[in-house]
Amino acid sequence: MAQNFYCMYCGNKYSSVTSLSSSTCTRHPNGSHKGKHALYEGSEKTKYTCKYCGNQYTSITSLTASNCTRHPNGSHKGRHSPAL
Ligand SMILES: [Zn+2]
Ligand SMILES: [Zn+2]
Repeated sequence: MAQNFYCMYCGNKYSSVTSLSSSTCTRHPNGSHKGKHALYEGSEKTKYTCKYCGNQYTSITSLTASNCTRHPNGSHKGRHSPAL
């Protein structure tokens, strides 16, 4: 059965971890293209919850599109991050 793998920073979908980790991420926490995509290790869900603030989104892409008011680096100092 085909399984999808998602980047926890940008929500891009890949068919393998190899392809996911082989390219740089536009939403990497160190800056756009400053690092590789990172595997979201949770299961596929209909709703994703930010682990910092609890806001819910229908996709990782929409979750990580905006900054988090409760980010550990400071309010709006980083993006929402999906809980597992
Ligand atoms: Zn990514
Ligand atoms: Zn958040």
